[in-house]
Amino acid sequence: MKNKKISKILIGTNNQGKLREITNLLPKNIKIYSTKNFNLKSPRETGKTFKSNALIKAKFFSQKTNLVCLSDDSGLEIDLLKKKPGIYSARWGGKGSDFNKAMQRVYKELDRKDKEWREKKISARFICALVIYWPNRKKIYSVGKISGKISKTKKGRNGFGYDPIFIPNGYKKTFAEMNKSYKYKIDHRARAFKKIKRFF
Ligand code: IMP
Repeated sequence: MKNKKISKILIGTNNQGKLREITNLLPKNIKIYSTKNFNLKSPRETGKTFKSNALIKAKFFSQKTNLVCLSDDSGLEIDLLKKKPGIYSARWGGKGSDFNKAMQRVYKELDRKDKEWREKKISARFICALVIYWPNRKKIYSVGKISGKISKTKKGRNGFGYDPIFIPNGYKKTFAEMNKSYKYKIDHRARAFKKIKRFF
């Protein structure tokens, strides 16, 4: 398939952590717009999967601006919690997107499930679905995952969201203890991005 390279793009997110990370993944010569440039609020995420929610955002922002849009829907799945928070990862932070509150809820729900969970490996993974949506309605999807475990305590100050409680397999540090630029290279978003790099 022949792809026309994208030279300007709207990053369809109101999450500053994601905006920073996606900007970092894109080549430097691309003109990047953010939803703030257009004063756009996010649409309601009514989908049941990461892919459908990423599409809702990419389509909404593309149609509002007539620009090609790249959106991400992502979250943390914890096996012991039947894959929660999953697509509700942002919503566990409440109206103010308070990630401390969201992480406290993870610990509370783990305690409720199994008082001894700290003695065990609590497997989890971050998932990222990316969608590029063009004004002519063309769209492409890509999904990336990174597996790991939940840290017994919150550690580290870098990053955003659930970074302080997630330790990727093969590492001893949480995402929040890693250098941001290093985390950006190995995580679920980077893995999803690798598959659509050819469009840029
Ligand atoms: P949404 O895709 O806007 O619904 O939000 C996804 C939520 O998942 C974020 O608000 C974070 O809480 C969490 N999340 C997604 N990716 C990451 C990550 O790389 N680090 C930490 N938390 C993340």
